[in-house]
Amino acid sequence: MAKRKLEIVEVSPRDGLQNEAEMVDTATKLELVTRITAAGFKRLEAGSFVNPKKVPQMADTPEVFEGLRGRSDATFIALALNPKGVERAIAAGAKEVNYVFCASDGFSIRNNGAPVAETLKVWPDVVARAKAADVRISATISTAFGCPFDGEVPVANVVRAAEEIGRAPPFELALADTIGVAAPSDVTERFGAVGAVAPPGVQLRAHFHNTRNTALANAVAAVDAGVTILDGSLAGIGGCPFAPGAAGNVPSEDLVYMFERMGYDTGIDLDAAIETARFIGKALGKATPGMVSKAGKFPK
Ligand code: ZN
Repeated sequence: MAKRKLEIVEVSPRDGLQNEAEMVDTATKLELVTRITAAGFKRLEAGSFVNPKKVPQMADTPEVFEGLRGRSDATFIALALNPKGVERAIAAGAKEVNYVFCASDGFSIRNNGAPVAETLKVWPDVVARAKAADVRISATISTAFGCPFDGEVPVANVVRAAEEIGRAPPFELALADTIGVAAPSDVTERFGAVGAVAPPGVQLRAHFHNTRNTALANAVAAVDAGVTILDGSLAGIGGCPFAPGAAGNVPSEDLVYMFERMGYDTGIDLDAAIETARFIGKALGKATPGMVSKAGKFPK
């Protein structure tokens, strides 16, 4: 029987680095991207077009995209929180934009500058603009499992956001556990509920943080719920700004190790992924949370 395919989208150059206090220069980011594509990742978040005062680590995203112009070895995704960010991404030559909404007003007001309902109003125009520019657009619902300001986020909030987004369907819809609070039962419930209202043809993606050590378990629950695309960050960088000192995104190499052992085909070279995770640790000059990059793969 052919192995089941599982796609891992690498987010270390964006979500991984954005909360790092130590500034990483553009050349190092571009080398990281090259190592990521060499390891077999076909899609990666290369940067974000957000306020550089709020996220100084992403201030050089235009230069990063300039350095990637013309490369076709992978799809380089730009993150945006508003129409202005989408315009900047298009101008920089991005071919795919990940547009982020929130499931809770507390986070939406601070991250996107307005309550959820307000931010959703521009969505049909954003989709039309991306289509006109021949740019693929995905949507992410952040704080889909819990909010650092509002606490519990009702499933109905997530479903409502998914329905609104579905009126102008993106090619992909992600649920993000922004602060790493989800348990597998939440994942089963929320992906089930969103899958039931997502328009046909919209693929689902899952984005987990390992803040409370539940990310690998959540990844298995997501795949069991029918998700075939998972975000990961090599070395597990991507610490949560609301939990200083906590672990970051689910480590990509740990995902690759586990799912390949489970019989999935991720298309990733685990040796190269481990090497890249170690490269990140060296670039940041610190120990990183990923486990497989320390332990190594299954012994021969
Ligand atoms: Zn994240």
